[in-house]
Order: sequence, then structure tokens, then C-alpha cells
Amino acid sequence: AATAINSQVKTTCCYCGVGCGMLVETEQVSGKLRIKSVTGDPAHPANLGRLCSKGATLHLTAQTHVYEQTRAKHPEWRHSKDAARTRANWDQANELVASRFADIINEHGPNSVAFYVSGQILTEDYYVFNKLAKGLLGTNNIDTNSRLCMSSAVAGYKRSLGADAPPCNYEDIDRASVIFITGSNAAYAHPVLFRRIEAAKEKNPALKIIVVDPRRTDTAQAADLFLQILPGTDIALYHGMLHLMLWEGWLDQTYIDAHTEGFSDLKALVKNYPPKTVAQLCGISESELFEAARLFATSTATLSLYCQGLNQSTSGTAKNSALINLHLATRQIGKAGAGPFSLTGQPNAMGGREVGGLANQLAAHRDLGNPAHRREVADFWGVTDVAEAPGLTAIPMFEALRSGRLKAIWIVCTNPAQSLPDQTLVHQALEAAEFVVLQEAYTNTATAPYADVLLPATTWAEKEGTVTNSERRISRVNPVIAPLGESKNDWQICLDIARLIEKKLERPRRLKDSSLFNFTTAEEIWLEHRALTKGRDLDISGLSYEILDTQGPAQWPYPEGATEGQARLYEDGIFPTATGRAKFLTEDYRSTAEATSARYPIALTTGRLRDQWHGMSRTGTIARLFAHAPKPAIDLSAADAQRLDLHNDELVYVTSARGVQVLPVSITTSVRPSQAFVAMHWGSEYVAGHAGKSMSLGVNGLTSSARDPISEQPELKFSAVKVTKA
Ligand code: SF4
Repeated sequence: AATAINSQVKTTCCYCGVGCGMLVETEQVSGKLRIKSVTGDPAHPANLGRLCSKGATLHLTAQTHVYEQTRAKHPEWRHSKDAARTRANWDQANELVASRFADIINEHGPNSVAFYVSGQILTEDYYVFNKLAKGLLGTNNIDTNSRLCMSSAVAGYKRSLGADAPPCNYEDIDRASVIFITGSNAAYAHPVLFRRIEAAKEKNPALKIIVVDPRRTDTAQAADLFLQILPGTDIALYHGMLHLMLWEGWLDQTYIDAHTEGFSDLKALVKNYPPKTVAQLCGISESELFEAARLFATSTATLSLYCQGLNQSTSGTAKNSALINLHLATRQIGKAGAGPFSLTGQPNAMGGREVGGLANQLAAHRDLGNPAHRREVADFWGVTDVAEAPGLTAIPMFEALRSGRLKAIWIVCTNPAQSLPDQTLVHQALEAAEFVVLQEAYTNTATAPYADVLLPATTWAEKEGTVTNSERRISRVNPVIAPLGESKNDWQICLDIARLIEKKLERPRRLKDSSLFNFTTAEEIWLEHRALTKGRDLDISGLSYEILDTQGPAQWPYPEGATEGQARLYEDGIFPTATGRAKFLTEDYRSTAEATSARYPIALTTGRLRDQWHGMSRTGTIARLFAHAPKPAIDLSAADAQRLDLHNDELVYVTSARGVQVLPVSITTSVRPSQAFVAMHWGSEYVAGHAGKSMSLGVNGLTSSARDPISEQPELKFSAVKVTKA
């Protein structure tokens, strides 16, 4: 029987990059502490007490029988690829992982191993894995599923503004006169933020909302002006808007002259984007184009919100730059209610960027290509050096695993056998790997059958540390209940194995006698990360766990002596580039990597549903979350359905150059003829011909691994497919 409710614990939602604060109540049930409820934390600036359907049901994820059944509760191992994994104890599992990694490195060198981590892990987890790879082992082969999510935004900010730093904050939504939502279905992907946009519109009906999207999404329904562009034509749209702004005299030449460089080249480029050409290319009218340019440029404050629609593209970085060009040219940046604001998909993609937890980054926004930066970090860590060459990013990592160049992979809190594009490649890579370590909270992911060692990790409500949301705000994550079974925090698992590896390497890179991993708490790790940020753009040397606990979440930078974080960047018009000026980047529109053709005539895009999260490990266990969209489907226009003689719920084959899926049809007005949409959350199970493994391909059995040449982010938003009756 339930007894009295224990005190509330403050923590942060583990789903998306809005980073909502929540209050968790517990109760004693038959002598066991159990999570009773969650409510939005009214004191948290990100959500002001609101929660969306996913966040509001988080407590239920920890209450179901499925949860107990699917959670990883103890280590497992196997000694041959054909054997089933059996239970091991932590000492056995740690020793096996450490020995295999050290043996492979001793024989083949540090670049024969790799780490594939996640925007779901905490900053402290990210920090120690990055230190293990780049510091102790000497490989930059550590990448993250944030590569699929934010890497084009990172590159866009760095190239145009000089630093990977979103300049805005959520309060800017309340202060904007125009909100330009482009490549984002915020109503589904960032629901609490979208509620804030709706509330701002209710309070200020003069606020104009412009939505740019190939699909008529729920976000588009709220738009005053909706531009239903053809997939992949974003750059042409932005250049066309700039062309009109130039022609109409809507630019801020004083700001351009004082704070930017490269405008004359851009001016010459956008002359090639006259309204008629752009309207035809984008599939919109000239008047829609004109109105978007007018509203954007002439408003007192224009805020752009953007997400995967820009980033998941082979032109992702150029799309980000072209959008930032508009803000610089019209001085819609560095003031309240204005700026280019990229929304992060996952709860801690930002924290991963801060510790440098990607293959082409170094700690605290330092650059691998900068010798002084490498020396600073190597000296700080007490290792011989940090390798200069960037490591393998997500897709090349799995290509190298398939070819045998990479021998072992340690996957942390992510499910590449469902979430990466071109799933045939990923499954073949995991089959070919000599050694696969999976550190996971759940046993039923599509990646789990490939694990030679399964390391059970804690999850939401059990972990302690910090996360950073889209607006640079660091929030505490607190444990509410004890870890389930023998599961451990991700950072603890990393440290235990790292200390063993230290003793086994034949060519030690450590310069001091003591371990590089002498941490006993999450806070000690965070303090080391904090020390590395001193003097950097994201300096948090004035912040502490205590301040975060007593005064609440804070934005970076928060240097020593500060009493609060910096709400908005670049208000002084000085940018962290070599010249102090922001850069206009001049890149032409280019088409998607794959084109529709007579064989594959339909442009398929993928995305999120409102009530599901990623591969559904958590949300898929809550019955009520299926009320909104109970099953997978392919959204098709009525015109295509009629042409193909298809009806609602009829099964079809959806075929791309890489695979085939069977899906029921959903006839909708949200997509145009010759376009289709499939949600990313579902996998489709079938048994492969080897080792009885169940493989889950889902929509990523169809998608392409073509990627942006700068950010290496894959083009998940565009695949050419055909649809035929099943
Ligand atoms: Fe969680 Fe995002 Fe929903 Fe907030 S908006 S409750 S962070 S899923």
C-alpha cells in the first residue's frame, strides 16, 4: 500500500532540447520508493511550469511492467559471436572490455577503436568519454548521435559568427515582432516552446508567425504566412529574400559596414536569385516570397527558429549560413527578440558540444586544428598530446567498422541500428565488428543483439549531473530513486573501465603517475570541465552545482565574479572571429544529393510525431501516448493516392535505392503531390539469415547516408522512393 508522499525532487526532462524543469514526487509502495508523479517546475525559465505530453508521462515510464522487463539490470557478456549473452558481474564485464580495447589498441593503434555516444547522456558522462578517447587512448574517434541532429548548426554558427553559440534565449519569443520558423515542426518536436509561441501570439496579435516547411504541419497551421517550399530549396528561398531586401532598401547598411565582412560577394551572388526564378524553384508565389522578405526585414525584431529541416541535409551548413546572412544584413541579431536560434533536438546535445564530444571538436569549444588548443588540453589532462586529425564521424565510423579498419566500438546510450540512415550499412558494420560494447539502460533496442558486452546504465530519475538546453542554459539533473538492479551511471562505467585500460596500454600517453580518472562524484567531473572553460566563450568558472541548486538553472557564459549568466550574445556587435566581424558566407543553392526520377518519383521526408521519442524505448511503453498516432504509416497526398489507386490503411511497398518497407497509407493534406512523410520512431522487425538476429530497419532502411561536406550530417530529410501496392 502507498504511504506518505516524500519530498519533491527538482530535475530536468530527459527528452528534448527545450530542457523543461520538473518536480518529481515519490511515494513508498510496499516499502519501496516509487515515482508517483511529475509536474512542470514553475520556477524553471525554460518551461515556466509547462510540460508536454511526453514530459508529463515520464513518471509512468518508470511504473510499467514493460519497464522492469526491458531495463538492463546486470552486465551480460559472450565469448563468441554465435553465443547468446549470459549474465556476468561488473568485474568480469569491465575486465573483458578493458582487455579487448587495450589489446586491439596495442596491436593496431588507437584509431582502431571508436566511441559512438549520445545527446541523451549528461555533460559529466560526455566529458569522461571524451577524455578517455582523446586523452588516454589518443584517438579522436568519438562521435555522437548529435551528428544526426545539430552538427550543421554548429558549423553554421562557427563559420558565420565565430563560435558555436546560439545567441538568443526563450524570452526572445515573447519579445519578437516576427517569428520565422523554418525547417522545424516545433509543435511536435519542441511542444513547450511552441506553447510559448502560441501564448505570445495570444498576448500580442500583431506578432507575425512565418512558417517555412515542405509539409503543412501543425506548426504551419499557426502561421500568418506559410511558405510550403519544395524539399531542399531553403537556400534559394533565403537568397531570394535577400535579393528582394536589397532591391527594396530594407537592409541595415550601417550595421553591415560596422560589424560584418564579405557582403559584396554575397550581394553579387543573390543578384542571381530574382523573385520569379526563386518562386518557381521553391514552388511558392512571388507575393509569398515578397511578404516573407518584407516581414523579416522590416519588423522591429525577427527571431528565426530552426531545426532538422535545415540541418539534416547535404547543404545543411550552407542553409544555416544563408539564414544567418539574413539576420546580419537586416541587423536582426544582438537585440531583444531577434536572432538566428537553432533548436537542439536532444536534451544535452549542447553539453556534448561544450565538452568537445564530437570527432572534430576539442574541450570547451577548442579546435583540433589549432596546435595551441591541442597543447592546452594535453597539458591540462597530463597526456603527451592530442591528435590533430579529426576522428571518424558517425557514418564513416560505421563504414570503417564494416570494412575492418575499425575493430571495436563502444556505443553509449543510443541505438544506431535504428537511428542511422542506410541501415543495411549499419547492420553489416555491427555484424563485421570484432568487438561491440553497448552501454544502455534498455535491452530491447535494435542494437542490443549485436553487443558482445552489455553494460547496464542508469536512466532518467536515477542519474546525477547537468544538461544544457537550446538557449545555453545549464540545468541540474538529480536522482530521485535508486538505480535499478546493478545499473550504474554512465560516467561511473566509463571511469571503472578507463582505470583498467590505463594499466594495460603498452604505449602509455599519460605523463603523471596517478590515474587521469580519479573522480568519485559527478560534481568532481563537472569541476574539471568547468576549469577547461575558463577564458573561453562558454566560460562557466563562476558557476557551481551549489549555485545551480540554490539559484536555479543558468545560461553560459557565467565567468568568475558574474552573478547571472548572459541572456543574449553579440549585443555589442563584436563577434568571436579573428577580425571581430561576422562573416557573410556566399554559397549557391544546390539540389539534394538524390533526385526524384521516373523510377523513384516521390520525395520522402522523415520526422517526429508529437507523442513519441526517438526509438520509443520509453514512450513506446505508455499506452496513452499512442492515442495521437497509433501506428506507423506513410503520409501521401490524395492526388498520389488516386493516381496509384490507394486507400487509407492499404498496405504499400515503399522502395528506395537502399531498401523496402511495408507501411499502411495515410491520405493527408499535409504533403504535396509527389511527396511523402514517414515518422522516424518505428522499426520493422524481421529475422535475418544469420545468428537468428532480429533486425530493425524502420524508415532508415530507406534513407540515404549522403552527408553535408562540412558538418558530415546526413540527409535524413530527403530520399527518392516509389510507392506500390503490397
Ligand atoms: Fe520534455 Fe521537451 Fe516536452 Fe519539455 S518540451 S516536457 S523537455 S519533451
